[in-house]
Amino acid sequence: MRDEIVGTHFPAEIDPTLKTGTYISAEQMHNLIHGDEKIHIIDMRNDYEFNIGRFENSILPSLENSRDLAKSVEEITHLKNEKVVTVCTGGVRCEKMSAYLLHKGFKNVSQLSGGIVTYMEKYPNKDFKGKLYVFDNRIAMGFETDSPDHEIIANCQFCCVKSDNYINCTDPKCHKQIFSCTDCVAAGKTTCLNGCVITEKAHNH
Ligand SMILES: [Zn+2]
Ligand SMILES: [Zn+2]
Repeated sequence: MRDEIVGTHFPAEIDPTLKTGTYISAEQMHNLIHGDEKIHIIDMRNDYEFNIGRFENSILPSLENSRDLAKSVEEITHLKNEKVVTVCTGGVRCEKMSAYLLHKGFKNVSQLSGGIVTYMEKYPNKDFKGKLYVFDNRIAMGFETDSPDHEIIANCQFCCVKSDNYINCTDPKCHKQIFSCTDCVAAGKTTCLNGCVITEKAHNH
């Protein structure tokens, strides 16, 4: 499982090989989620990954997305003394990002070893709902998607039906990933709602 490369704005003085969050297995994570201890799941991925699939009740601080890590971490500073568990696709990003939280004074930081993919293999459609965004042609990966337990957690941005059909906005200046169901794609609805347009190519003679 390929993980996205951690953003280039990561502070050089933090060495995750020296200090990082405590590794927990999928089984340990499952026990924590269903146990009595209060935990907070912090998702270290990007919004477009979070939007197609995520742990129930997880938090997305968009740490990685941000050019200003310190500012993003303010969103979750109220959790400094609480037990937090960081998650990402395959576990690679969590090594750095959980180290970052420790550096910022978080006291009790664990990270999901092997990442969400390992958890989904072990507990398909249990606590992680939707699909796992992947950085290859598949775009998203579902586990046991024929099961009645499988849920689509996204909606078509045009007609609001449940749909996790990601397309790239066809405005050449944008290319952001958006949800448009197959009917809406067929109807030519392929751009963001924020004013993106499909620009016609200039006529050539
Ligand atoms: Zn639609
Ligand atoms: Zn767009």
